[in-house]
Amino acid sequence: MESELEKMLEAYKPLDETTVVSSAEKASRYLRKQRLWEAIRQEIKDYPKALQMKLYRASHPEKAYAAYLRQKDSHKQLKVEVLTHYGNQKLACVQCGEDRVACLSIDHIEGGGNKQRKGKLRASTAFYRWLKREGYPEGYQTLCMNDQFVKRFEREEHN
Ligand SMILES: [Zn+2]
Repeated sequence: MESELEKMLEAYKPLDETTVVSSAEKASRYLRKQRLWEAIRQEIKDYPKALQMKLYRASHPEKAYAAYLRQKDSHKQLKVEVLTHYGNQKLACVQCGEDRVACLSIDHIEGGGNKQRKGKLRASTAFYRWLKREGYPEGYQTLCMNDQFVKRFEREEHN
């Protein structure tokens, strides 16, 4: 099995960027690459899933990058949608009107309790996804970081 894989690796040899190849050769290389990956996949099938994924991304950088861009884009869209809902249909802080998206996040109006855990959850995509899936439950608002800090400061003063 190992010598088979070695043979395939030898046959695949990456091209240097200046080498011109015919489209037939390109197609053939593509097939060899696919077969090579299949063989590697067999070799690593008992590895932890996360490691398998890493190896896949490492051997398919263009695919991994395209997926990363798509994911980044959909995260951004989701964030804009949720922040707009909780900004009273404006993509802005409900207190001061700050509208730079990077400064905005969701504030749990009556929030308290385990602040650290909630803080971590608040920033995560999972939280934005949850809010949307739940049909935008009440009790949240869009605040800028300054107003979040002011709110925290005022709470601590009263405690
Ligand atoms: Zn603000």
